[in-house]
Amino acid sequence: MTSHSTSRLYQEAAANVDQATAAIDMDPKVRHILSAPMNELIINFPVQRDTGDYEVLQGYRIQHNNVLGPYKGGIRFHPGVDLDEVRALATWMTFKCALLQLPFGGAKGGVAIDPHLLSDAELERVVRRFTHSLGENIGPEFDIPAPDMGTDARTMGWMMDTYLNSRGPGERQNARRVVTGKPVELGGSLGRDSATGRGAAYALRHLYGELDRTLVGETAAIQGFGNVGSHAAVALSELGVKIIAIADVTGVVHDPDGLDVEKLRAHADDRGGVADYPQSEGLRVEEFFALDVDILVPAALETQITAANVDSIRARVIVEAANGPVTAEAAAVLEHGGVHVIPDILANAGGVVVSYYEWVQNKTSDRWTAKDVDERLRDAMWDAADRVANRRLERRCTRRQAAYMEAASLLQTVYGLRGIFP
Ligand code: GLU
Repeated sequence: MTSHSTSRLYQEAAANVDQATAAIDMDPKVRHILSAPMNELIINFPVQRDTGDYEVLQGYRIQHNNVLGPYKGGIRFHPGVDLDEVRALATWMTFKCALLQLPFGGAKGGVAIDPHLLSDAELERVVRRFTHSLGENIGPEFDIPAPDMGTDARTMGWMMDTYLNSRGPGERQNARRVVTGKPVELGGSLGRDSATGRGAAYALRHLYGELDRTLVGETAAIQGFGNVGSHAAVALSELGVKIIAIADVTGVVHDPDGLDVEKLRAHADDRGGVADYPQSEGLRVEEFFALDVDILVPAALETQITAANVDSIRARVIVEAANGPVTAEAAAVLEHGGVHVIPDILANAGGVVVSYYEWVQNKTSDRWTAKDVDERLRDAMWDAADRVANRRLERRCTRRQAAYMEAASLLQTVYGLRGIFP
């Protein structure tokens, strides 16, 4: 990729792209196009605090590529958000959508705030003002935001309402699909909330099928107990996996006999995190990663498994439910040691898959059942996992490389068929 940026995370994303485009002998013109985001928006916008004071926040929307369809990707609210992180995340969205063969491109947005430190009224003002400032840079056939870390269905409801208020009355119904991951009552899809976690579980089931092993009785540790981690925990428990540890920002809980995921969810809802859950012992984060488990699911932030802690990992399977949780360096060590890593653009694709279903339902004024959505999600995940497995065998490479190659091939084909304007 070009030396567009120097941040660690963007370098990770750039390396993923470089490796894949080289491995499939991609046309250099297309490589160049994919090596930098198409559009990068930096928006400084004022927000009034409850004290009456104003603060100017910086928000981003990076539109990486739209050759396959409208730009698509979440909006992240987290104190660590910066331009380079959003660039990396937007790049990964292009490859994720291509791998799942969705008619979407890749984008990501973010604001460097801690939503937990804002009142509801302040948060709503941030969302509405940011959406207003995005203006015509988002749209139901142009760029479609969704939830990501620190944002949720309520955030999407406010975004949708703000956007619709900028449209003429005759256009409003049709523009609801400007965001996905909305509350069901506002046109959201059943099953969108649990989609990323359930999708990760489907990817894991596929891997165990490939290995001819059963998930029943396997042990797992999950990092992150937000939208992705908590739904992954439920889905894995349904498959007979024993969840023995869960870590979140408040602490780590561990019970070698298996945690009761539903009880832990109720506790975390009530107390704002897993800490102090009675039926468990606490652990330090280093101990969490070194637990003797079969499956490790990093479902929180990026760059969690690195050269610094990879040697302590004892799990034999890693499901990258977060975006970029394992660095390339750590992944190489793991794969060399025979650990199976389900790469993020496959493992966490369930969210954007069901976002697509939501968009289609809105576009056709239809409402699918939860069963319908879940079956389609399963089929989409297994189809992508099949293609990754086949390419991996064919090319004798890692699953991560195979996933990127699979995505890059589609992008290459589409550019080849369309040609490059002018
Ligand atoms: N934020 C999610 C992701 O990283 C979902 C994106 C979407 O649904 O558009 O894949």
